[in-house]
Amino acid sequence: MKVSPGDILEMKKPHPCGDKRFKVHRIGIEFRLECMGCGRIVIVPRIKIEKNIKKIISDPKEH
Ligand SMILES: [Zn+2]
Repeated sequence: MKVSPGDILEMKKPHPCGDKRFKVHRIGIEFRLECMGCGRIVIVPRIKIEKNIKKIISDPKEH
């Protein structure tokens, strides 16, 4: 599963604000994601992200 910075991830488990879409800011052992609903930054280990991704919505500017 290939995730690039700028991509939007749709997750199986929503953020507490109710939005399931997160924008990728930085990738690595831990991913830095921005919730599209409330704008909060979350840092999540890659292994947790990979289990939780429902869909990758690529950034049209990057592809
Ligand atoms: Zn949120």
